[in-house]
Amino acid sequence: MKDMLDEFRVTDAPFWRQTSDEVELFTAAWDARIPVMLKGPTGCGKTRFVEHMAWRLGRPLVTVACNEDMTASDLVGRYLLDADGTRWQDGPLTFAARHGAICYLDEVVEARQDTTVAIHPLTDDRRVLPLEKKGELLQAHPDFLIVISYNPGYQSLMKDLKQSTKQRFAAMNFTWPEGETEAEILAHEAGIDSETAGKLVEIGARSRNLKGHGLDEGVSTRMLIHAGRLIKGGIAPRAACSMALVNSITDDPDMRDALDAAVATWF
Ligand code: ADP
Repeated sequence: MKDMLDEFRVTDAPFWRQTSDEVELFTAAWDARIPVMLKGPTGCGKTRFVEHMAWRLGRPLVTVACNEDMTASDLVGRYLLDADGTRWQDGPLTFAARHGAICYLDEVVEARQDTTVAIHPLTDDRRVLPLEKKGELLQAHPDFLIVISYNPGYQSLMKDLKQSTKQRFAAMNFTWPEGETEAEILAHEAGIDSETAGKLVEIGARSRNLKGHGLDEGVSTRMLIHAGRLIKGGIAPRAACSMALVNSITDDPDMRDALDAAVATWF
């Protein structure tokens, strides 16, 4: 089992450019074993932050990308049939709770509510997980922590976290890094010079102003990194921005023109 756990260890330090007191806050939540909810738009650094914190705290990290077809059994586990009969297999949540990993449920709002409630008993003082099919009440390992990510921008009446789920977590707000910081991140992640990174950051900022005026979301840090990597690979900056930023974020021709114009201001 140790070998399997090793697969989830974060061995190389994931680069994290601190933007505020997030490391301190997360560490305090970890020390108190309070479940953490990372709130913010897609591509702003939530996943990278958890990877960095898992490395810092020396805990294995089990990540689950949530989707609407996911059942509670996918998280908790199930009996499998093999040549010798049936055998129980822990799901990722159970595996993490049993062995003391950090379990990161990415985009938890995508999961159906009956799946989400499976995490409830692990997030209260009992820190247990009932494995009903197996007839086991699993007591979570002392080093187990549950972390979820949640994009409030996508919330709708049909798809939102129940209050009873939300209120089990301490929440940290993530947003786009401030200009110079984001440029540093781009330069590091894409391997581009700081001047090019600075221009991409300006284009990102323009697009974010269009949120609610034709765009559902602004260009993310992740998308800016993609543009930077294309430029680094020898693609002309305007073409790189069209491909990585403009065409990905909108299908609307007018909006595309507006964004292309922003790109042309800088490149
Ligand atoms: P999310 O989980 O919010 O969708 P990610 O964690 O995948 O977003 O972030 C996208 C990319 O942005 C990361 O792979 C990383 O390269 C970069 N990034 C964002 N913020 C930071 C930061 N503060 N330090 C280092 N990299 C960052």
